[in-house]
Amino acid sequence: MKPTTLEFKPQERNIFFHVLTGCNLSCKHCYINPDQHGKEMVSRNTMETWLKLFYEPTKDTNVIFLGGEPTMHKDLAHGVKFARELGYATVTIDTNGYVFHDILERIEPHEAVISFSLDGPDAEVNDPIRGRGVFATCTAGIKKAVKKGFDVSLIYTVSSMNLAHLQRMPALLEELGVKRFFIQVIGIRGKSAATTERLQVTPDEWLTIIPQVAADAANRDIHVIYPKVFLDPNEPFVCAGQLAQNFFIFPNGRVYQCPLCEDFPLHTYDIKNNTLHRNSGLSEAQLFTLEIPEGCVMNKLLQPGNLEYLENGTVKHRISCCLLKQEMKL
Ligand code: SF4
Ligand code: SF4
Repeated sequence: MKPTTLEFKPQERNIFFHVLTGCNLSCKHCYINPDQHGKEMVSRNTMETWLKLFYEPTKDTNVIFLGGEPTMHKDLAHGVKFARELGYATVTIDTNGYVFHDILERIEPHEAVISFSLDGPDAEVNDPIRGRGVFATCTAGIKKAVKKGFDVSLIYTVSSMNLAHLQRMPALLEELGVKRFFIQVIGIRGKSAATTERLQVTPDEWLTIIPQVAADAANRDIHVIYPKVFLDPNEPFVCAGQLAQNFFIFPNGRVYQCPLCEDFPLHTYDIKNNTLHRNSGLSEAQLFTLEIPEGCVMNKLLQPGNLEYLENGTVKHRISCCLLKQEMKL
């Protein structure tokens, strides 16, 4: 089975709304950086106002509620319903599995997709990364959501800590009744940027193992989506910052277009007095326009360990935009 690349859709807007930065967990690879993203939580009023600010009725606008742990926000259920009423095409909640504030009771299955993060096929692999008891709690949350009829997906962040165990995930997903599987590659930001441990996997590991596991899951009728990471020789490089409409919103008002930039004050926009202001100084928007043989500029700046060069000095694999995905499904 071969993957299909999901091209960026200029007519689609994706709003990644971090409604708070707090979390009950302390994952080893957490991408939240309180120095950059603050420690705030948006109010119910702000949640409504910013959902209106980013809604674009002439485009398919999707919202993904994130944190921290978004279900720790007592008004998340209200935010989901408000987004649906406004007309957002899809609403997703990304959760660590603790599903606080009875969120599964307070919204209806047709109102939101629930996306669970789990980083191992058992507690022995998952819990050293995400915390003691997290595997049991998260899988209990998944079972409850599936039983209630929610559309459930699962995100597995691949790193050197759990790559060897990815192959056991398709069987677990089948057992849990999860129909969509997002394989994510670890980003070197937040806590991952601060550790001396090498968390990235090598190009050979990624290119060998991920397609095999994806095919196994797809053959079990699970829809698999994973980042392209390494471009094929004749594949064009495209930066989502130039072509797509993605907004990563933080409760301190920063709005990024590229998740790799989130560790730095390089955000394109700020929300001030509930209005979107484009920053006039140096921002990620200037970096998006730079063309280099290695592909993604931010990857070269932040994650040069992803790059390998041939003897003649040319790059072995160009790195795609981190937002370029591939899918496999029956
Ligand atoms: S669940 Fe998410 S926000 Fe919470 S610590 Fe883990 S990675 Fe960070
Ligand atoms: S990951 Fe690279 S290519 Fe994608 S938006 Fe960011 S800078 Fe552009």
